[in-house]
Amino acid sequence: MSGQEKPKFKKLESVKAMKKVMADYFYELDEAAKTGKQKVAWCTSVGPAEILRAMGFAVFFPENHGAMLGATRMATELIPEANAVGYSPDICSYLTADVGAYLKGVTPLSKAYPGIESVPKPDVLVYNTNQCRDVQDWFNWYGRHLNVPVIGVYTHRNIGRVQETHIRSVAAQFKAMVEPLSDISGNKMDPAELSRVVGLSRRCSDLWKEVLETATAVPAPLNFFDDTIHMGPAVVLRGDPRANEYYEILLKELKERIEQGVGSVDGEKFRLYWEGMPVWGKLREHSQMFASLDTCVVASTYCNSWIFEAFDPDDPYNSMARAYTELFIVRSDDEKEKYIERMADLFKIDGILYHDAKTCPNNTNNRYGMPERLEEKLGIPSLTIQGDLNDLRLYSDEQARTAVQAFIEQLEERKAANK
Ligand code: SF4
Repeated sequence: MSGQEKPKFKKLESVKAMKKVMADYFYELDEAAKTGKQKVAWCTSVGPAEILRAMGFAVFFPENHGAMLGATRMATELIPEANAVGYSPDICSYLTADVGAYLKGVTPLSKAYPGIESVPKPDVLVYNTNQCRDVQDWFNWYGRHLNVPVIGVYTHRNIGRVQETHIRSVAAQFKAMVEPLSDISGNKMDPAELSRVVGLSRRCSDLWKEVLETATAVPAPLNFFDDTIHMGPAVVLRGDPRANEYYEILLKELKERIEQGVGSVDGEKFRLYWEGMPVWGKLREHSQMFASLDTCVVASTYCNSWIFEAFDPDDPYNSMARAYTELFIVRSDDEKEKYIERMADLFKIDGILYHDAKTCPNNTNNRYGMPERLEEKLGIPSLTIQGDLNDLRLYSDEQARTAVQAFIEQLEERKAANK
Protein backbone atom coordinates (compact mmCIF):
# COMPACT_ATOMS: atom_id res chain seq x y z
CA MET A 1 0.00 0.00 0.00
CA SER A 2 1.38 3.42 -0.89
CA GLY A 3 -0.38 5.14 2.03
CA GLN A 4 1.50 8.43 1.53
CA GLU A 5 0.01 11.88 0.78
CA LYS A 6 0.42 12.66 -2.89
CA PRO A 7 -2.24 14.01 -5.18
CA LYS A 8 -3.11 11.05 -7.40
CA PHE A 9 -6.57 12.13 -8.48
CA LYS A 10 -7.24 14.04 -11.67
CA LYS A 11 -9.47 17.07 -12.00
CA LEU A 12 -12.10 17.15 -14.71
CA GLU A 13 -11.79 19.97 -17.26
CA SER A 14 -15.59 20.28 -17.43
CA VAL A 15 -15.58 21.89 -14.01
CA LYS A 16 -15.01 25.26 -15.73
CA ALA A 17 -18.25 24.89 -17.72
CA MET A 18 -20.05 23.87 -14.55
CA LYS A 19 -18.84 26.93 -12.66
CA LYS A 20 -20.25 29.14 -15.42
CA VAL A 21 -23.64 27.38 -15.30
CA MET A 22 -23.80 27.74 -11.52
CA ALA A 23 -22.69 31.40 -11.60
CA ASP A 24 -25.39 32.24 -14.17
CA TYR A 25 -27.97 30.50 -12.00
CA PHE A 26 -27.06 32.44 -8.84
CA TYR A 27 -26.83 35.81 -10.60
CA GLU A 28 -30.25 35.25 -12.20
CA LEU A 29 -31.73 34.42 -8.82
CA ASP A 30 -30.16 37.52 -7.33
CA GLU A 31 -31.57 39.68 -10.10
CA ALA A 32 -35.02 38.11 -9.75
CA ALA A 33 -35.06 38.91 -6.04
CA LYS A 34 -33.63 42.42 -6.42
CA THR A 35 -35.80 43.57 -9.31
CA GLY A 36 -38.96 41.63 -8.48
CA LYS A 37 -39.23 40.71 -12.20
CA GLN A 38 -39.60 37.09 -11.28
CA LYS A 39 -41.00 35.67 -8.04
CA VAL A 40 -38.63 33.55 -5.97
CA ALA A 41 -39.57 30.17 -4.49
CA TRP A 42 -37.41 28.25 -2.04
CA CYS A 43 -37.72 24.51 -2.48
CA THR A 44 -36.36 21.43 -0.72
CA SER A 45 -33.81 19.52 -2.78
CA VAL A 46 -36.18 16.71 -3.71
CA GLY A 47 -39.30 18.87 -3.65
CA PRO A 48 -41.53 19.64 -6.64
CA ALA A 49 -39.17 22.08 -8.40
CA GLU A 50 -40.84 21.32 -11.74
CA ILE A 51 -44.17 22.83 -10.62
CA LEU A 52 -42.42 25.97 -9.42
CA ARG A 53 -40.34 26.34 -12.56
CA ALA A 54 -43.35 25.77 -14.83
CA MET A 55 -45.20 28.56 -12.99
CA GLY A 56 -42.39 31.03 -13.65
CA PHE A 57 -40.66 31.07 -10.25
CA ALA A 58 -36.90 31.42 -9.91
CA VAL A 59 -36.09 28.48 -7.62
CA PHE A 60 -33.56 28.53 -4.76
CA PHE A 61 -32.57 25.44 -2.75
CA PRO A 62 -31.57 26.11 0.88
CA GLU A 63 -29.93 22.66 1.16
CA ASN A 64 -27.55 23.64 -1.62
CA HIS A 65 -26.77 26.74 0.43
CA GLY A 66 -26.29 24.54 3.50
CA ALA A 67 -23.80 22.39 1.56
CA MET A 68 -21.94 25.53 0.47
CA LEU A 69 -21.72 26.62 4.10
CA GLY A 70 -20.23 23.21 4.87
CA ALA A 71 -17.82 23.13 1.93
CA THR A 72 -16.52 26.62 2.75
CA ARG A 73 -16.19 25.60 6.44
CA MET A 74 -18.36 28.49 7.52
CA ALA A 75 -20.92 26.12 9.03
CA THR A 76 -19.19 25.11 12.26
CA GLU A 77 -18.99 28.70 13.52
CA LEU A 78 -22.56 29.54 12.46
CA ILE A 79 -24.35 26.55 14.00
CA PRO A 80 -24.19 28.03 17.56
CA GLU A 81 -26.17 31.08 16.31
CA ALA A 82 -29.12 28.80 15.58
CA ASN A 83 -28.58 26.87 18.80
CA ALA A 84 -28.91 30.17 20.67
CA VAL A 85 -32.45 30.67 19.31
CA GLY A 86 -33.52 27.18 20.32
CA TYR A 87 -32.52 24.92 17.43
CA SER A 88 -30.60 22.01 18.93
CA PRO A 89 -27.03 21.11 17.96
CA ASP A 90 -28.38 17.56 17.47
CA ILE A 91 -30.69 18.42 14.56
CA CYS A 92 -29.82 18.87 10.87
CA SER A 93 -26.64 20.91 10.56
CA TYR A 94 -27.78 22.22 7.17
CA LEU A 95 -30.69 23.80 9.04
CA THR A 96 -28.63 25.16 11.92
CA ALA A 97 -25.80 26.43 9.67
CA ASP A 98 -28.25 28.07 7.27
CA VAL A 99 -30.35 29.72 9.97
CA GLY A 100 -27.12 30.75 11.71
CA ALA A 101 -25.87 32.33 8.48
CA TYR A 102 -29.12 34.23 8.08
CA LEU A 103 -28.99 35.51 11.66
CA LYS A 104 -25.38 36.62 11.17
CA GLY A 105 -26.13 38.16 7.77
CA VAL A 106 -23.47 36.13 5.92
CA THR A 107 -23.46 33.83 2.90
CA PRO A 108 -20.76 32.02 0.92
CA LEU A 109 -22.50 33.35 -2.22
CA SER A 110 -20.94 36.81 -1.58
CA LYS A 111 -17.43 35.45 -1.85
CA ALA A 112 -18.10 33.12 -4.78
CA TYR A 113 -20.18 35.64 -6.74
CA PRO A 114 -19.14 39.28 -6.21
CA GLY A 115 -22.14 41.59 -6.12
CA ILE A 116 -24.44 39.07 -4.42
CA GLU A 117 -24.95 40.26 -0.86
CA SER A 118 -27.48 37.81 0.48
CA VAL A 119 -29.56 34.77 -0.36
CA PRO A 120 -32.53 35.72 -2.59
CA LYS A 121 -35.53 36.77 -0.52
CA PRO A 122 -38.34 34.27 -1.05
CA ASP A 123 -41.95 34.95 -2.06
CA VAL A 124 -42.96 31.41 -1.08
CA LEU A 125 -41.37 28.43 0.67
CA VAL A 126 -42.20 24.90 -0.51
CA TYR A 127 -41.04 21.75 1.26
CA ASN A 128 -41.60 18.01 0.93
CA THR A 129 -41.15 15.79 3.98
CA ASN A 130 -40.09 12.85 1.78
CA GLN A 131 -36.53 13.25 3.07
CA CYS A 132 -37.09 14.29 6.70
CA ARG A 133 -39.13 16.46 9.05
CA ASP A 134 -36.28 18.91 9.57
CA VAL A 135 -37.12 20.65 6.29
CA GLN A 136 -40.56 21.50 7.67
CA ASP A 137 -39.08 23.18 10.74
CA TRP A 138 -36.40 24.88 8.66
CA PHE A 139 -38.86 26.39 6.18
CA ASN A 140 -41.36 27.30 8.88
CA TRP A 141 -38.62 29.23 10.69
CA TYR A 142 -38.14 31.38 7.59
CA GLY A 143 -41.89 31.58 7.05
CA ARG A 144 -42.33 33.10 10.50
CA HIS A 145 -39.21 35.23 10.32
CA LEU A 146 -39.85 36.70 6.87
CA ASN A 147 -43.64 36.56 6.97
CA VAL A 148 -43.73 34.50 3.77
CA PRO A 149 -46.28 31.75 2.95
CA VAL A 150 -45.13 28.14 3.45
CA ILE A 151 -46.58 25.19 1.53
CA GLY A 152 -45.80 21.66 2.72
CA VAL A 153 -46.16 18.29 1.02
CA TYR A 154 -46.37 15.30 3.36
CA THR A 155 -44.98 12.06 2.02
CA HIS A 156 -45.21 8.62 3.60
CA ARG A 157 -41.87 7.35 4.89
CA ASN A 158 -40.24 3.95 5.38
CA ILE A 159 -42.08 2.67 2.31
CA GLY A 160 -41.58 -0.88 1.06
CA ARG A 161 -43.31 -1.27 -2.29
CA VAL A 162 -44.53 2.10 -3.59
CA GLN A 163 -48.30 1.76 -3.95
CA GLU A 164 -51.01 3.67 -5.79
CA THR A 165 -52.30 5.10 -2.49
CA HIS A 166 -48.90 6.75 -1.89
CA ILE A 167 -48.88 8.20 -5.40
CA ARG A 168 -52.46 9.45 -5.21
CA SER A 169 -51.82 11.18 -1.89
CA VAL A 170 -48.70 13.03 -3.07
CA ALA A 171 -50.08 13.85 -6.55
CA ALA A 172 -53.21 15.36 -4.93
CA GLN A 173 -51.00 17.58 -2.75
CA PHE A 174 -49.00 18.69 -5.80
CA LYS A 175 -52.21 19.62 -7.62
CA ALA A 176 -53.56 21.45 -4.56
CA MET A 177 -50.52 23.74 -4.40
CA VAL A 178 -51.10 25.11 -7.90
CA GLU A 179 -53.84 27.55 -6.90
CA PRO A 180 -51.99 29.21 -4.00
CA LEU A 181 -48.82 29.33 -6.10
CA SER A 182 -50.78 30.96 -8.89
CA ASP A 183 -52.01 33.64 -6.45
CA ILE A 184 -48.40 34.36 -5.45
CA SER A 185 -46.79 34.28 -8.90
CA GLY A 186 -49.68 35.85 -10.81
CA ASN A 187 -49.23 33.08 -13.41
CA LYS A 188 -51.68 30.32 -14.20
CA MET A 189 -50.34 26.80 -14.58
CA ASP A 190 -49.91 25.95 -18.26
CA PRO A 191 -50.11 22.14 -18.57
CA ALA A 192 -47.95 22.18 -21.73
CA GLU A 193 -45.23 24.10 -19.87
CA LEU A 194 -45.36 21.65 -16.96
CA SER A 195 -44.93 18.74 -19.41
CA ARG A 196 -42.01 20.50 -21.04
CA VAL A 197 -40.28 21.11 -17.69
CA VAL A 198 -40.88 17.52 -16.50
CA GLY A 199 -39.47 16.30 -19.83
CA LEU A 200 -36.34 18.41 -19.29
CA SER A 201 -36.00 17.11 -15.73
CA ARG A 202 -36.30 13.55 -17.00
CA ARG A 203 -33.56 14.18 -19.54
CA CYS A 204 -31.40 15.74 -16.81
CA SER A 205 -31.96 12.69 -14.64
CA ASP A 206 -31.07 10.31 -17.50
CA LEU A 207 -27.88 12.25 -18.24
CA TRP A 208 -26.89 12.42 -14.58
CA LYS A 209 -27.41 8.65 -14.28
CA GLU A 210 -25.24 8.11 -17.35
CA VAL A 211 -22.55 10.35 -15.82
CA LEU A 212 -22.56 8.42 -12.55
CA GLU A 213 -22.56 5.06 -14.30
CA THR A 214 -19.41 5.87 -16.26
CA ALA A 215 -17.78 4.92 -12.93
CA THR A 216 -18.74 1.29 -13.59
CA ALA A 217 -15.68 1.31 -15.90
CA VAL A 218 -12.39 0.05 -14.46
CA PRO A 219 -10.59 2.30 -13.74
CA ALA A 220 -13.45 4.67 -12.90
CA PRO A 221 -13.17 8.02 -14.72
CA LEU A 222 -14.74 9.94 -11.82
CA ASN A 223 -15.24 9.46 -8.10
CA PHE A 224 -17.72 10.35 -5.38
CA PHE A 225 -15.90 13.57 -4.50
CA ASP A 226 -16.16 14.74 -8.13
CA ASP A 227 -19.83 13.72 -8.10
CA THR A 228 -20.63 15.92 -5.09
CA ILE A 229 -19.39 18.94 -7.07
CA HIS A 230 -20.78 18.03 -10.49
CA MET A 231 -24.24 17.22 -9.12
CA GLY A 232 -24.86 20.98 -8.67
CA PRO A 233 -26.82 21.49 -11.92
CA ALA A 234 -28.92 18.32 -11.35
CA VAL A 235 -29.92 19.70 -7.93
CA VAL A 236 -30.58 23.37 -8.72
CA LEU A 237 -31.30 23.42 -12.47
CA ARG A 238 -33.22 20.26 -13.29
CA GLY A 239 -36.03 21.31 -15.62
CA ASP A 240 -33.76 23.93 -17.22
CA PRO A 241 -32.00 23.02 -20.50
CA ARG A 242 -28.67 24.42 -19.25
CA ALA A 243 -28.27 21.50 -16.82
CA ASN A 244 -28.70 19.06 -19.70
CA GLU A 245 -26.24 20.94 -21.91
CA TYR A 246 -23.69 20.78 -19.11
CA TYR A 247 -24.05 17.03 -18.59
CA GLU A 248 -23.51 16.46 -22.34
CA ILE A 249 -20.14 18.26 -21.96
CA LEU A 250 -19.20 16.28 -18.85
CA LEU A 251 -20.21 12.97 -20.43
CA LYS A 252 -18.01 13.63 -23.44
CA GLU A 253 -14.98 14.13 -21.19
CA LEU A 254 -15.77 11.03 -19.14
CA LYS A 255 -16.20 8.88 -22.25
CA GLU A 256 -12.83 10.10 -23.53
CA ARG A 257 -11.27 9.08 -20.23
CA ILE A 258 -12.80 5.62 -20.54
CA GLU A 259 -11.56 5.22 -24.12
CA GLN A 260 -8.05 6.22 -23.05
CA GLY A 261 -8.16 4.04 -19.92
CA VAL A 262 -7.69 7.10 -17.68
CA GLY A 263 -8.94 6.68 -14.13
CA SER A 264 -9.81 9.45 -11.72
CA VAL A 265 -7.39 7.81 -9.26
CA ASP A 266 -3.97 6.81 -10.60
CA GLY A 267 -3.37 3.09 -10.13
CA GLU A 268 -6.88 2.30 -8.86
CA LYS A 269 -6.71 -0.91 -6.81
CA PHE A 270 -9.80 -0.75 -4.61
CA ARG A 271 -13.35 0.42 -5.31
CA LEU A 272 -15.58 1.63 -2.48
CA TYR A 273 -19.25 2.60 -2.15
CA TRP A 274 -20.05 5.63 0.06
CA GLU A 275 -23.29 5.30 1.98
CA GLY A 276 -24.51 8.49 3.66
CA MET A 277 -23.84 12.21 3.47
CA PRO A 278 -20.50 13.68 2.39
CA VAL A 279 -18.44 15.53 5.01
CA TRP A 280 -18.67 18.79 3.07
CA GLY A 281 -15.76 20.51 4.79
CA LYS A 282 -13.44 17.58 4.06
CA LEU A 283 -14.06 16.79 0.40
CA ARG A 284 -10.57 17.71 -0.71
CA GLU A 285 -8.86 15.87 2.15
CA HIS A 286 -10.99 12.78 1.56
CA SER A 287 -10.33 12.85 -2.14
CA GLN A 288 -6.57 12.98 -1.49
CA MET A 289 -6.66 10.41 1.29
CA PHE A 290 -8.43 7.75 -0.78
CA ALA A 291 -6.32 8.47 -3.87
CA SER A 292 -3.14 8.09 -1.79
CA LEU A 293 -4.42 4.65 -0.80
CA ASP A 294 -4.97 3.65 -4.47
CA THR A 295 -8.67 3.65 -3.72
CA CYS A 296 -11.50 5.13 -5.72
CA VAL A 297 -14.84 5.79 -4.07
CA VAL A 298 -16.77 5.00 -7.23
CA ALA A 299 -20.41 5.43 -6.24
CA SER A 300 -22.75 6.64 -3.53
CA THR A 301 -26.37 6.57 -2.54
CA TYR A 302 -26.24 10.31 -1.94
CA CYS A 303 -25.34 11.38 -5.49
CA ASN A 304 -27.69 8.79 -6.97
CA SER A 305 -30.55 10.55 -5.17
CA TRP A 306 -30.98 12.97 -8.07
CA ILE A 307 -31.89 10.17 -10.48
CA PHE A 308 -35.66 10.32 -11.04
CA GLU A 309 -36.50 7.61 -13.53
CA ALA A 310 -40.25 7.91 -13.10
CA PHE A 311 -40.61 11.44 -14.56
CA ASP A 312 -43.02 11.27 -17.49
CA PRO A 313 -44.00 14.44 -19.39
CA ASP A 314 -47.27 12.75 -20.44
CA ASP A 315 -48.33 12.26 -16.82
CA PRO A 316 -46.57 15.02 -14.88
CA TYR A 317 -48.33 15.01 -11.49
CA ASN A 318 -48.45 11.24 -10.98
CA SER A 319 -44.97 10.71 -12.33
CA MET A 320 -43.53 13.46 -10.11
CA ALA A 321 -45.34 11.91 -7.13
CA ARG A 322 -43.79 8.53 -7.99
CA ALA A 323 -40.30 9.95 -8.66
CA TYR A 324 -40.22 11.85 -5.36
CA THR A 325 -41.56 8.86 -3.42
CA GLU A 326 -39.39 6.11 -4.94
CA LEU A 327 -36.26 7.74 -3.54
CA PHE A 328 -33.89 5.68 -1.40
CA ILE A 329 -34.28 7.95 1.63
CA VAL A 330 -38.06 7.40 1.66
CA ARG A 331 -37.83 3.60 1.65
CA SER A 332 -37.77 0.73 4.14
CA ASP A 333 -34.48 -0.92 5.13
CA ASP A 334 -35.36 -3.98 3.00
CA GLU A 335 -35.68 -1.82 -0.11
CA LYS A 336 -32.53 0.12 0.78
CA GLU A 337 -30.56 -3.09 1.15
CA LYS A 338 -31.78 -4.41 -2.20
CA TYR A 339 -30.71 -1.12 -3.77
CA ILE A 340 -27.20 -1.24 -2.26
CA GLU A 341 -26.86 -4.88 -3.36
CA ARG A 342 -27.59 -3.81 -6.96
CA MET A 343 -25.10 -0.94 -6.74
CA ALA A 344 -22.36 -3.13 -5.23
CA ASP A 345 -22.73 -5.51 -8.16
CA LEU A 346 -23.02 -2.80 -10.84
CA PHE A 347 -19.97 -0.82 -9.64
CA LYS A 348 -17.84 -3.91 -8.74
CA ILE A 349 -17.44 -2.77 -5.15
CA ASP A 350 -14.72 -4.12 -2.83
CA GLY A 351 -16.08 -2.51 0.33
CA ILE A 352 -18.80 -0.20 1.67
CA LEU A 353 -18.09 2.87 3.76
CA TYR A 354 -20.92 4.15 5.98
CA HIS A 355 -20.80 7.72 7.19
CA ASP A 356 -22.62 8.06 10.50
CA ALA A 357 -23.60 11.72 10.19
CA LYS A 358 -24.55 12.73 13.71
CA THR A 359 -27.09 15.39 12.77
CA CYS A 360 -28.75 13.51 9.91
CA PRO A 361 -30.22 10.18 11.00
CA ASN A 362 -32.27 10.26 7.79
CA ASN A 363 -29.23 9.80 5.58
CA THR A 364 -27.40 7.51 8.04
CA ASN A 365 -27.99 3.80 7.59
CA ASN A 366 -25.48 2.03 9.81
CA ARG A 367 -27.38 2.24 13.09
CA TYR A 368 -29.84 -0.66 12.79
CA GLY A 369 -27.69 -3.57 11.61
CA MET A 370 -27.60 -2.83 7.88
CA PRO A 371 -23.80 -3.11 7.52
CA GLU A 372 -23.79 -6.52 9.19
CA ARG A 373 -26.73 -7.81 7.12
CA LEU A 374 -25.16 -6.60 3.88
CA GLU A 375 -21.74 -8.00 4.77
CA GLU A 376 -23.36 -11.38 5.16
CA LYS A 377 -25.38 -11.13 1.96
CA LEU A 378 -22.68 -9.62 -0.23
CA GLY A 379 -19.56 -11.13 1.31
CA ILE A 380 -17.77 -7.77 1.20
CA PRO A 381 -16.54 -5.86 4.25
CA SER A 382 -17.71 -2.47 5.46
CA LEU A 383 -16.46 0.36 7.61
CA THR A 384 -18.31 3.07 9.53
CA ILE A 385 -16.73 6.47 10.05
CA GLN A 386 -18.15 8.92 12.56
CA GLY A 387 -18.73 12.50 11.52
CA ASP A 388 -21.23 14.97 10.20
CA LEU A 389 -22.22 16.70 6.98
CA ASN A 390 -21.47 20.21 8.26
CA ASP A 391 -20.47 20.27 11.92
CA LEU A 392 -16.73 19.58 11.89
CA ARG A 393 -16.66 19.42 15.71
CA LEU A 394 -18.23 15.98 15.27
CA TYR A 395 -15.52 14.69 12.95
CA SER A 396 -11.91 13.68 13.67
CA ASP A 397 -9.39 13.60 10.81
CA GLU A 398 -7.12 11.34 12.81
CA GLN A 399 -9.78 8.77 13.66
CA ALA A 400 -11.14 8.67 10.11
CA ARG A 401 -7.69 8.31 8.57
CA THR A 402 -6.66 5.52 10.94
CA ALA A 403 -9.91 3.65 10.34
CA VAL A 404 -9.74 4.03 6.54
CA GLN A 405 -6.08 2.95 6.39
CA ALA A 406 -6.83 -0.16 8.46
CA PHE A 407 -9.81 -0.92 6.23
CA ILE A 408 -7.77 -0.70 3.03
CA GLU A 409 -5.13 -2.98 4.60
CA GLN A 410 -7.94 -5.45 5.29
CA LEU A 411 -9.00 -5.22 1.63
CA GLU A 412 -5.41 -5.83 0.52
CA GLU A 413 -5.18 -8.93 2.68
CA ARG A 414 -8.46 -10.24 1.28
CA LYS A 415 -7.26 -9.64 -2.24
CA ALA A 416 -3.99 -11.43 -1.55
CA ALA A 417 -5.80 -14.36 0.08
CA ASN A 418 -8.18 -14.68 -2.89
CA LYS A 419 -5.43 -14.80 -5.51
S1 SF4 B 1 -32.10 14.77 4.98
FE1 SF4 B 1 -30.61 15.20 6.61
S2 SF4 B 1 -29.23 16.73 5.79
FE2 SF4 B 1 -31.04 16.69 4.48
S3 SF4 B 1 -32.36 18.31 5.30
FE3 SF4 B 1 -32.99 16.38 6.27
S4 SF4 B 1 -31.82 16.21 8.19
FE4 SF4 B 1 -30.85 17.81 6.88
